[in-house]
Amino acid sequence: MYEYEVKYYDGQSSRSRNAFLLLRDSHWQLIFRDENDEEQSTRWEIDQIKQNDMGSALNTFHYGDFPHQSVEIEDPTFIDDLKQKYPGLDFVNKNYHRVLTGGWKVMAGLVALTILLFALFAFVIAPNSAALIAGQIPRSFESKLGENGYQVFMTTAEEDAKRSLLVNRFAKQMDFDTDYPIRITVVESDEVNAFALPGGRIVLFSGLLDKMGSAEELAGLLGHEVGHVKHRHSIKAQMRSLSTYLFVSLLLSDVNGVTAVLMDNAKMLSNLSYSRKLEHLADEEALAVLQKNHISQSGLVDLFRTLQGEAGKEPEFLKFLSSHPLTQDRLDFAKKAAAKQRGEQENLELKAIWERIETEGKKESELPG
Ligand SMILES: [Zn+2]
Repeated sequence: MYEYEVKYYDGQSSRSRNAFLLLRDSHWQLIFRDENDEEQSTRWEIDQIKQNDMGSALNTFHYGDFPHQSVEIEDPTFIDDLKQKYPGLDFVNKNYHRVLTGGWKVMAGLVALTILLFALFAFVIAPNSAALIAGQIPRSFESKLGENGYQVFMTTAEEDAKRSLLVNRFAKQMDFDTDYPIRITVVESDEVNAFALPGGRIVLFSGLLDKMGSAEELAGLLGHEVGHVKHRHSIKAQMRSLSTYLFVSLLLSDVNGVTAVLMDNAKMLSNLSYSRKLEHLADEEALAVLQKNHISQSGLVDLFRTLQGEAGKEPEFLKFLSSHPLTQDRLDFAKKAAAKQRGEQENLELKAIWERIETEGKKESELPG
C-alpha cells in the first residue's frame, strides 16, 4: 500500500496543503490540489529526501535545495514502513545527526577544533599571508596607494615649500640604497611627527624639523623613514589594522581583494603605528644608510634623545612616539652601533644645506601670526 495522508509545504509559502504521499521504488509521489482546486502531482527523488531529526513528535521530511519543500507525516506506522520499503536506506544526514545526539564529547571536540582553527589563522595563516601578499603587491599599485593617501592628507595640510625644497636637496646628497623615488614634503605644523607613505613619499612636520639640532639627526630620521618605505611597512601596518575586513582575502591569499580594501582606506596611511619589530628594522636601515654615507650614526641616537627629552612636555610630542614607539632597546641598539662605528666624515654639503633649513625655520617662527 504505502499511501499516507500528509501535510505538504511547497517551500514558497508557509501554508500547508493536505496531500497524499505514495512511496514508489525510486521516488515519492505527492498528490494535492492547488489554489484552483486542480489536482497536481510532484515527484521527490529518493536520494534527495532528508529526514529532520530535531526530536519533534511529527515526522518531517524535506526535499532538494533551499527553499525546501517538506511534508509532515503523523501516521505512527510510517517509520517502520520506510524501513520495510527501503531496507538499508537512512534518510537522516548522518554527520548532522551525530553532532546533535552525540553528546558532550562531540561538542567538546568541535569547540577544540574551532579554537585550533582560529589560533592557526591568527598566528600562522594571517601573518604569513599578510607578509606574502604585501610582497606580491605591484609597485604601480603601491605608488597609487601612497599618492592617494598623500592627496587626502594634503587637503588639510599646508606645505612649507622652501623647506621641502631644501630637505629634498639634502636627501639627494644621500645614497639611500633604494630605487623607490624618495620625495619629502615639509608641512607646517606644531606636531612633532613624520611618516612614510607606500611608494616613497615622506611627510615631515615642521614641529619635528624645528626640534632637530644637526644634519646627522635629519639624516638619521630620513634613513629611518626610507627604511619603512623599502620594507613596505605602511602596507603591512595598514593590513594589520584592517585585518578584520581582510579576513577572507588573507585566508584565500587574494591580492585583488586586499588591494581594494587598502585603496578604500588610503586616508588612514597618515596615521598608522608600527610594531616594535618594524621599528627595529627601520632603525637597522637608518644605521646602514648612515654608514654607507659616512655620516655619524650618533645622529640617530641624538634624534631619539631629542624625542625622549621633549616627550611629555607637550601633547604634540606624543605623535611621533605613538606611531614609532621608542623603547630603551631601540636607544641602546643605536648607541651600541654608533660606539663601534668607523669611517664617519664630516659632510660639508649636508651641513651647508642643514644650516639653510635651520635659518628658514627661524624666519618662519618670526613671521607674525
Ligand atoms: Zn618608524
